[in-house]
Amino acid sequence: MIYFDYTADTPPDRRVLDRYIAAAQIFANPNSAHSAGLEARNEIDGSISRMAELLHVKPSELIMTSGASEANNLAVKGLTFTDRRRGKHIVSTFLEHSSVSGALTFLQEQGREIDIVNVKPDGSIDIDHLRSLLREDTVLCAVCAVDSELGTVQPIGEIAEILKDYPNCRFHVDATQAVGKIKLDLTQADTASFAPHKFYGLKGCGILYKREEIVLEPLIHGGASTTIYRSGTPDTAAIAAAAKALDIAEREFEERLAYVTNINRILRDEIRNIPGLIINSPENAVPHILNVSSTGIKGSRMQVLLNEKGICISVKSACSVPNTPSRPVMAITHDRRRALSSWRISLSHLTTEQDIGALIKALQEIMEHEVGK
Ligand code: PLP
Repeated sequence: MIYFDYTADTPPDRRVLDRYIAAAQIFANPNSAHSAGLEARNEIDGSISRMAELLHVKPSELIMTSGASEANNLAVKGLTFTDRRRGKHIVSTFLEHSSVSGALTFLQEQGREIDIVNVKPDGSIDIDHLRSLLREDTVLCAVCAVDSELGTVQPIGEIAEILKDYPNCRFHVDATQAVGKIKLDLTQADTASFAPHKFYGLKGCGILYKREEIVLEPLIHGGASTTIYRSGTPDTAAIAAAAKALDIAEREFEERLAYVTNINRILRDEIRNIPGLIINSPENAVPHILNVSSTGIKGSRMQVLLNEKGICISVKSACSVPNTPSRPVMAITHDRRRALSSWRISLSHLTTEQDIGALIKALQEIMEHEVGK
């Protein structure tokens, strides 16, 4: 099996698993006031402090959740519920993951008004359009730092500057596909979400950065735990493993990026030479994500055909609704057929040149066979 779906999930690093197993021995409830509980609490505090140091934020600004979906829901709903008296207007994009867009649909059904910012052909949001949408009663602007289908990188710093003129508006950044792929200053946002299973850590764990001054209505009410914003017994081992994964992602960032940039260039050149394939990811997308359309072949069929040859790629993001056009591809191309025939290759420092060779060979065979029918 040749894996090209690292955007959906990454294999856990051995060092992360070792850290998990070691920390799992510290089993007591970190909320318990005895010495065993205190040992667990110290372990958690140390791991959260390390993550805060790596992210250049304060430990008290990190909220541990069950994944990026929960972190996005907590931010989007929590900020909107808190600011309900300030207004009901929200601005977002068609590039968002379903855990942001789904939370926004829920809020729309509750009476919030949502506006969607246009995306330019290069995948970046139209800043002038954003300016024209913002209002005194805009309470939330939610924009992903890197989208999971095309890999486009958004100008988070520029958006943050614009939002300074709108004191009622909070800025949520979904950084799930950014951590480990680009350098991002989380403090430009009011809240930012991510999850270690996207950078060789483990599933079932997510993190929400929340700027200290921001007040957030929790989704899960209960006791204080590590934070008042998310109740429940914290998972000592998952938090230790998250810190390890982040530590490795930061330390090996440059080396991994250079490698992936190189294989992305090779892959783009090869794909351009295959008749019927069109690259959708803009040139300035992260090199880890390459979105492609196959003329005359739906994305879902391409996934099946490649799977038959032992190759795993993805159609849209793993959690999105099947057999509908890709919203990000639609947003940049305005071409429904191209959006329906799109699919995603995702790359890693673990991808070999042989993997690339096998993918190219399979694509040549498929395109010759299917298009020649
Ligand atoms: N946000 C983005 C951009 C993602 O790519 C994903 C996962 O695909 C998520 C959020 C949800 O992450 P999780 O699976 O940790 O809930």
